[in-house]
Amino acid sequence: MKIQDIGGEFELIDRLAAIAGQVHGDLVVGIGDDAAVIRTAPEPAPYLLVTTDLLVEGSHFSSRWCSPEQVGHKAVACNASDIAAMGGKPSWMFASLVLAPNADVEWVEGLYRGMARACRSNGIILAGGDTTHGPAASLSITLLGIVDQGHLCLRSQAKPGDLIMVTGTLGASAAALALLEKNDKPDLYLLSKHCAPDCRLDISDIIAPLANAMIDISDGLGSEIRHICRQSRVGAEIVADRIPLHPEVRRAADQLGIDPLSFALQGGEDYELLFTMAPERVEGLMKRTDDCHQIGIVTQGQYEPVLILADGNRIRLPEGYNHFKK
Ligand SMILES: [Mg+2]
Repeated sequence: MKIQDIGGEFELIDRLAAIAGQVHGDLVVGIGDDAAVIRTAPEPAPYLLVTTDLLVEGSHFSSRWCSPEQVGHKAVACNASDIAAMGGKPSWMFASLVLAPNADVEWVEGLYRGMARACRSNGIILAGGDTTHGPAASLSITLLGIVDQGHLCLRSQAKPGDLIMVTGTLGASAAALALLEKNDKPDLYLLSKHCAPDCRLDISDIIAPLANAMIDISDGLGSEIRHICRQSRVGAEIVADRIPLHPEVRRAADQLGIDPLSFALQGGEDYELLFTMAPERVEGLMKRTDDCHQIGIVTQGQYEPVLILADGNRIRLPEGYNHFKK
């Protein structure tokens, strides 16, 4: 049996969790959220957060388009984004590197320059790692963080009646990649969103005390909202016209002759935040930021999210990116 035959990445994770996942009194949240949540001291001490992410050359980054500094920056940002999605702050980082035997020392130094710069700007200390050789370059990062118990945001905490919100705009990274793959040149905005995206630690500490559920958008909105629905046992209605798209994303979609929403729903690597919040809390949020947008509402019961189109038609929300899926 192949991974594709069981449905893909998420079904594989479910199977592996069933084999090796553990229950422990101090493991507040194990496999299945943006980071593990661990109790290391009696309440009300903050929880420890641990997340890990793997980037493989050719699959997650390409030296054709991105400088080594940008790859290093992105590796830190995508991990810090998972800590932000839990409502926490990142702290200590470990980086392990697989290099092809003919790897270029300048490329590796550039990678670490990019990581070092992104660590400094996010308050992260690189504390160790490992290097070894293999067929292609890949970089594995483990990032620790802490979160106040009252600010912890899980995928499983959405409530029917919550508003569904996102930060920033979606689809820029996927739009850039689509252009690059057609040998078209994305503009500087799209390219920087693809090669050197920032995470939303700038805004997550405003959102976390007010939100119920939160997740970062790394595999497209269509995938992330399903994680919230499944783990919170709720449904969702997303209004297509409300999904925030940057003008350059619309322009790229025009150029390629495709629906710009597909970049937001099925693309990935936006590293924006998707969260749900009781309606009465939204005013308090909007007083502190103008970069959060309501795109829908959490509904009772059924786990399959619905997309409401401009003409009022309701369709099944297209799925997001799934590693291993056909
Ligand atoms: Mg995540």
